[in-house]
Amino acid sequence: MAFYVTTPIYYVNAAPHLGHAYSTIAADILARHHRQRGEEVFFLTGTDEHGEPVAQAAEREGVSPRELADRNAERFQALMPRINVSNDFFIRTSDPRHKARVQDVMQRVHDNGHVYKGVYEGWYCPRCADFKTDSELGPGNTCPIHQIPLEREREENWFFRLSTFQEPLERLYADRPEFVRPRSRANEALAFIRGGLQDVSLSRSKISWGVEVPWDREHVFYVWFDALLNYYTALSFARDGQDLTERFWPATLHIIGKDILKFHAVFWPALLLAADIDLPQQELIHGYLLMRDASGTEHKMSKSLGNVLDPFEVMDTFGTDALRYYCFREVSFGQDGGVSTATFGERYETELANEYGNLASRTLAMTRRYRDGVVPDVDVDPALVTDFEGLVGEVCELLDNAEVTQALDRIWLRVRRLNRYVEETAPWQLAKDGSRAAELDVALRSLAEGLRSVTVLLHPYMPETAGKLLAALAAEDVAMDGAAFGSRPGGASVGALEPLFPKPQ
Ligand SMILES: [Zn+2]
Repeated sequence: MAFYVTTPIYYVNAAPHLGHAYSTIAADILARHHRQRGEEVFFLTGTDEHGEPVAQAAEREGVSPRELADRNAERFQALMPRINVSNDFFIRTSDPRHKARVQDVMQRVHDNGHVYKGVYEGWYCPRCADFKTDSELGPGNTCPIHQIPLEREREENWFFRLSTFQEPLERLYADRPEFVRPRSRANEALAFIRGGLQDVSLSRSKISWGVEVPWDREHVFYVWFDALLNYYTALSFARDGQDLTERFWPATLHIIGKDILKFHAVFWPALLLAADIDLPQQELIHGYLLMRDASGTEHKMSKSLGNVLDPFEVMDTFGTDALRYYCFREVSFGQDGGVSTATFGERYETELANEYGNLASRTLAMTRRYRDGVVPDVDVDPALVTDFEGLVGEVCELLDNAEVTQALDRIWLRVRRLNRYVEETAPWQLAKDGSRAAELDVALRSLAEGLRSVTVLLHPYMPETAGKLLAALAAEDVAMDGAAFGSRPGGASVGALEPLFPKPQ
């Protein structure tokens, strides 16, 4: 089994913010989960570096586009260890190996008869690096995303015959209803396709910062085509001396935000069809994390709208795992949802510190106090066996559908179940009565095993916390085939554990 997951590649013209972290952590959760299942995983992220916005920003700063791209790409590369993601490669589209591969693929598109030269005139947003159709214009010819006036542009371009892919794309959506998820996004893409596809510019002649069109060196490819192809090109050079394309293409899952739906759900499959390349299995379109301001109004998190929540500040104060947990617990993955420092604080204290952190410290402390730190080697409580029945299968099934939040919800129900179990069994009472030693054995053993089981399942969400806790339980294996409650024997000697979610200083 091979699992290939990608994030969008991030445009180097901005600084990394929570939106970038969000898409990347989602991909990381799935990558880690599939590794737990023993699958061969490839997880790709990276930066999109060409196009007019970078060239313009570089000019304003008096540096070359290459210098600007190098400097900003570094900030995105630094983001990855900071949010503790396990990407297998970081692609930069200015990499000459990417450029050569883009030229190969596009030459094939050309030779297959899908391009022609023409003149383009239209409303262009330099920030989106995209022409807007009439139906996409905001009031007064503005960009609805960036809320800036658009420029009327006219130039000689190479065109991609997107219009000829209308029927194949309609057929794709009919044959593969799961190609784009959630369903509402597939319907949106299909409505765009049925509205009639127009040919699109494939090249720009006014700028030079890009991948040269191999059959017309005066042009560079329109940045979107070069960027989309990263998912395919990276496999050919991510490993020195190896081509991973056979092993991992077609991609299992592209994770993208809804603002780039059209490019991924319409242009991308058409481009692949034009190049005779297999289509990816699935695209998962997620919503926005919206910032709630003091009045309770929600805004899209966007650098250009000036309401960015700094994920670094949250991670500095509360730890990376707390951010990873909160983003997917608070907002159902796929939908839009509000995030705020207030709800973050509540979840940190109630769920992470009290429900999970306390469960861990109490379980370990009671095992040390009542059984010299050795988990009793007895059978787990049958009552809990029933409550944990089928959990591993449920989580796997949900994550197979990228239901990241729902899977976390199921796991958290068991965290809460274990807390109730502590109250029900009251081990501190059992410990006072020598005749109930066997009951105490079962309670301590069941708590340690329950804690281990939920923590293995939580590993993709909170890898650092899971690592610490599993080490303290002397059960570091995170393989999914040992995740089920009761599947590991008792008898381990538990270690000490610092508070997992301390009160911030
Ligand atoms: Zn725009």
